[in-house]
Amino acid sequence: MMPDDQTDAFDAGPLSYADPIPTDWLDTLPSVAECLRPYQRTQIEQTAQALRAGYRRVLVQGATGSGKTHVLSAIVAAAAAAGIPALVLATRTRLVRQIHERLEEFGIRHGVIAAPLAHLRDYSARVQVASVDTLHRRSVVDRHIPMPSAGLVLFDECHLATADTRLNILDSYPDAIRIGLTATPARKSGRSLNAAFDCLILGPMPRELVHADMLVPFRIFNTPIATQTELKALPKDNENDYRVDGLSALVCKPKLVGDVLENWCRIAKGKRTLLFCVNKAHGGALLAEFLRNGIKAEMLTDQDDEATREEVVARLERGDTHVVLNCFLLSYGVDVPSVECIVLARPTRSLPMYLQMVGRGSRPSLETGKHDCVLIDHGHVVENLGLPQSDFPWTLDETRNVNREAQERARNAATETLRTCKQCTALWLTSEQGHACPECGWTPAPKAKPVTVQRADLQEMADDDRKPVWASDPRVVRFFREACGWYAKHWPERWREKQKSGRWASWMNTVEKFGFSESVRIPTSFWELEPLPGGLEVSGWCQHRLIKRARSKARAA
Ligand SMILES: [Zn+2]
Repeated sequence: MMPDDQTDAFDAGPLSYADPIPTDWLDTLPSVAECLRPYQRTQIEQTAQALRAGYRRVLVQGATGSGKTHVLSAIVAAAAAAGIPALVLATRTRLVRQIHERLEEFGIRHGVIAAPLAHLRDYSARVQVASVDTLHRRSVVDRHIPMPSAGLVLFDECHLATADTRLNILDSYPDAIRIGLTATPARKSGRSLNAAFDCLILGPMPRELVHADMLVPFRIFNTPIATQTELKALPKDNENDYRVDGLSALVCKPKLVGDVLENWCRIAKGKRTLLFCVNKAHGGALLAEFLRNGIKAEMLTDQDDEATREEVVARLERGDTHVVLNCFLLSYGVDVPSVECIVLARPTRSLPMYLQMVGRGSRPSLETGKHDCVLIDHGHVVENLGLPQSDFPWTLDETRNVNREAQERARNAATETLRTCKQCTALWLTSEQGHACPECGWTPAPKAKPVTVQRADLQEMADDDRKPVWASDPRVVRFFREACGWYAKHWPERWREKQKSGRWASWMNTVEKFGFSESVRIPTSFWELEPLPGGLEVSGWCQHRLIKRARSKARAA
């Protein structure tokens, strides 16, 4: 018979580690830590300094994707080398497993306390990695096992550390050194984590990480489905965010659900996408809409167990699923580097919540070679809280509120430097990227200029000074041929029998795509061009126009 929890025990008796901890234990890192990046080394050096200065509850911040598991494992390695028993707490089995794997790589003996990972249990190890909820259940509720002895307690994703049961576990180690790691050192309400920590070490700015290719930049599209006034009027919950019932009533309208789908098709069709929705009702409506339009989508809810969650995420990684919808479930602890698009269909006023959601898309992926992540913001979130890779005013000061400060800063900066393209909804920083839209070249017209028509197939794209695009431009020709290919694939019979109308429809798609005026004629040669198999950009555009036309027809009826 396998020994159960009651017969098992840790070899160390006392709750807390009794020996005094040397002040310099973190000053030299074991050789396994040589693979650390320079900024990770700096984070650890600053932690060591804080410990030498007498701080015992240190909070280490680092952007999502900056390699916090690596930093954490190096600290554990130093503790193990100094003979200090360590307890690592994590909130999800997936995180526990990630830490376990990294410690294995580092060759550090450890045991794991997590219900689904019973085979990794080793109560005699001086390093224990525990799912905080499993530990709470076994040690506090059921009293099956004593709390493991520890001179050092680490908490991964420690923005979640102030929940009562978790804080109780931390506080049951009053003499231990406490180190927490998170990308977003604040509560969802914007209040500080000063109940659990007394020293904050800030990691490198996300932009530095982008420059160093550690994170990918975002391409942001600002396509709100509700007005600022509608959002402002919503009731707030006790964390000062929009109340879910009010939000749900606002965004579940069929038209808005359709808008989310239509914009995804236009901007991000085929990209591996995580979509954050308000609640199950909203997610269900969106899922049905995606499926009805032939898009491979799945939804995860908090009813799904860990195994289901892993399977769905694996299908997304393989590209078998294109869109995974969820509420806040996948907002942390899920590393899917291949995610290329984040859809915020859930407006929020919480900076940590916003950054945790978009952080799922900022890791580079060697496998897919992605070089950016599309962010489709349906809830004015970027406008209201700032660009996701800005430097935010994190603090441990209990009188300050990072949500409020981020909102104030965004309000002061937004009108000056943030601009949304009237043509393609891209959002960009004019102070850095100039006045023309980085996506489509649109610029706000200072004043109307006379349009010089040189030939019928030459078209100045808007009432501004952008470069003219010819109907014979290779990009236009290619787009048209792919649009024909999309049509022929969608309606093979119609294409065979009434090819001319298929070409005409494809031309209309091309006209809309490039913003040609109606006076631009279809070039004669286009009646003969061979269709090409449509790439994702073109099929996304054609599908987006199709949905749009169907919806406006339905509204007119
Ligand atoms: Zn644009």
